[in-house]
Amino acid sequence: MTRYAAPGTPGAIVSYQSRYDHFIGGEYVPPVRGRYFENPSPVNGRLFTEVARGTAEDVERALDAAHAVAPAWGRRSATQRSDVLLKIADRMEAHLEQLAVAETWENGKPVRETLAADIPLAIDHFRYFAGAIRAQEGSLAEVDDDTVAYHFHEPLGVVAQIIPWNFPILMAAWKLAPALAAGNAVVLKPAEQTPVSIHYWLSLVSDLLPPGVVNIVNGFGEEAGKPLASSPRVAKVAFTGETSTGRLIMQYAAEHLKPVTLELGGKSPNIFFDDVWEKDDDLRDKALEGFTMFALNQGEVCTCPSRGLVQRGNYPDFLAAAVARTEQIKAGHPLDTETMIGAQASGDQLAKILSYLDIGREEGARVLTGGERVEFDGELKGGYYVQPTIFEGDNRMRIFQEEIFGPVVSVTSFDDFEDAMEIANDTLYGLGAGVWTRDINTAYRAGRAIQAGRVWTNCYHAYPAHAAFGGYKQSGIGRETHKMMLEHYQQTKNILCSYTPKKL
Ligand code: NAD
Repeated sequence: MTRYAAPGTPGAIVSYQSRYDHFIGGEYVPPVRGRYFENPSPVNGRLFTEVARGTAEDVERALDAAHAVAPAWGRRSATQRSDVLLKIADRMEAHLEQLAVAETWENGKPVRETLAADIPLAIDHFRYFAGAIRAQEGSLAEVDDDTVAYHFHEPLGVVAQIIPWNFPILMAAWKLAPALAAGNAVVLKPAEQTPVSIHYWLSLVSDLLPPGVVNIVNGFGEEAGKPLASSPRVAKVAFTGETSTGRLIMQYAAEHLKPVTLELGGKSPNIFFDDVWEKDDDLRDKALEGFTMFALNQGEVCTCPSRGLVQRGNYPDFLAAAVARTEQIKAGHPLDTETMIGAQASGDQLAKILSYLDIGREEGARVLTGGERVEFDGELKGGYYVQPTIFEGDNRMRIFQEEIFGPVVSVTSFDDFEDAMEIANDTLYGLGAGVWTRDINTAYRAGRAIQAGRVWTNCYHAYPAHAAFGGYKQSGIGRETHKMMLEHYQQTKNILCSYTPKKL
C-alpha cells in the first residue's frame, strides 16, 4: 500500500501555484476583469488555490491568439503534428504519478484509478491520434475518363471545447488530441469544479506546443462558456457535459451555423441474464464485478451502469452476492492506493446525490445497502463522501430515469429477452449498456437491440482509443475516441478537375 502525500504537505510530489490565470498565446494572462474564484479539494473540502474567472473579454483574447497561429499550425505536415502529440504522450508518461496525484487531489477520485486508468488512457489517446493522422488519406474518384474528383481533409481553423469535471485530464485529451492532430487551434474551457488539472498538465507540456495552439480560459458556464460557444469566430463547438447544457450549446452554435459534437448524459442499463449465474466460475465473478462498477469513479461517469436489470430466475441469489460484493468496496483516503471509492467531485454534486437518496426512499424504493453520506474524521474531515448504494425498485421511478451521477444503482428484475430490451430502452438516454450472458446469440441480439452507442458484452467501463464512443437519443451527437472523430474537426475540400481541352 502506498499513501501519496497531499499537495502542500511534506514529501508531496505535486505542488500548486496559489493562483492560476488564463493560458493564452503560450503564457499566463490575468483575467481582464481581475476576478478569481476559489478551488477546494473534494478530499477535505479545503481551498487550495484560486483561479481566473473568465468572461467574454478573455475569450476574445484567447480567440485572437488562436487565430494568429491556426493557419501556420494547420499547414504543418501531419508528420510534424503527429510528432508533437507523441512528445506530449512521452512527457505525460514520464510524469504519470504527478499527473495522477494532481487529478486525484482536484477531483477526489482514488489514485488507484488515476494511476491505472485516467492518465494511461489520456496518454494513449495522444498516441492513437498521432498514428491516426499519419494514416489518414484523402481520396480520388474517377468521374469519367477525363474528370477526377479529389477529396482533401482541411483543418477547420479555431475550435471551441468545453469539458466537465468527472475526468478532467482524460476529457481534455479526448478533445485536444483529435483537434490538434487535424490541424486546429483550440480554445478550451475546463469545468469550474476542476480547473487546475489542465494547468498542471500544461506546466509539463506547454513548451511542446506552439504558442496559441492551445488556449485555456477558466470560468463558469454562463460567463465564459456561453461567449465561447456563441462566438462567430469559432468554426466548431465540441462539448461534454449535461444533456440540458448540450441543448443550450446547440442553440448558441446555431446562431452562426457552427457544427457541434456533444457527449452528454446517460442512464445506462447493465443486464444480467440467468445463464451468467448458472456456473460458479470466472464469468460469474466477472459479472458481479461488472455490477459493482456503478461505484467506479464514485458513479461520476456518463456511462455509469446505474440501472441493474437482473433476470428473475436467479434474482435473489444474484442480488445477495451483489450486495455482499458492494459492501467490500474499500472507502478511504483517495491518495491511498488501496482505496476503491473516493470523494464526490464537489459539494454541489454531493448535495445532488443525497437529494436522490431521499427521492428514492420517498418513491418507495428499498435500500439494499448504503444510502448515507460518509463523514470521516481527521485528514478527510469536510470531504464529500457517499456510501455505494443499491436501490431496488421500478424502472418508472425517478431514480431509474434521471441521471444521479453518484455511486447509486437502481435494480429491477426482468422475465425474458424482450422484457429486458423494453426496460433497457425505456429511457431518454442512449450512451452505454452492459450485457452479461454465456449465449452468443443473446449477446449479439441484445447488442443490436439496445439503443445505445456503446454496448459492452461481458465487460464494462473499458474506454480504449480505437473503439467509437458516443450517444444515441439524448446522449449526444458524434463519436469520440476513434479516428472518425478527426472528420468532426475537418472540412472536406473537393477539387473537381477536367483533364481535357475538349468543350463540354
Ligand atoms: P455541465 O453541463 O454542468 O458542465 C459541463 C461544462 O459546460 C462545464 O465546463 C461548464 O462550465 C460548462 N457550461 C455550463 N453551462 C454552460 C453554458 N450555459 N454555456 C456554456 N458552457 C456551459 O456538466 P457537468 O456537471 O460538468 O458534467 C457532468 C455531465 O457530463 C453529466 O451529465 C455526464 O453524463 C456528462 N458527461 C458525458 C460524457 C460523455 O462522453 N458522454 C463524459 C463525461 C461527462
